[in-house]
Amino acid sequence: MLQSQQAPPAVEVLDGQRVRTHCLKCGEAIVLDFGGLSRQKALEKVAEMNVIPRECPGFHVELTGWRRLWQMDEAIEALYGKEENRGN
Ligand SMILES: [Zn+2]
Repeated sequence: MLQSQQAPPAVEVLDGQRVRTHCLKCGEAIVLDFGGLSRQKALEKVAEMNVIPRECPGFHVELTGWRRLWQMDEAIEALYGKEENRGN
């Protein structure tokens, strides 16, 4: 399947524990490594990462909001599958 160069913000599972997403702000590819964590632990890690100030590989610094910017929820969904609709 050919796709245009301007890649959509796709989320791609690389292997059993790494997911590639894209930064919604700058479009840089981000590889999230969940290191074999359980889904619950992965969610906890995401919650932690979300509020840690850091620099994106695309050269901008954010204080919080990585969960949304780096599509972490989508990454977890891609890696672990959708949880049966509870909550939300
Ligand atoms: Zn970025």
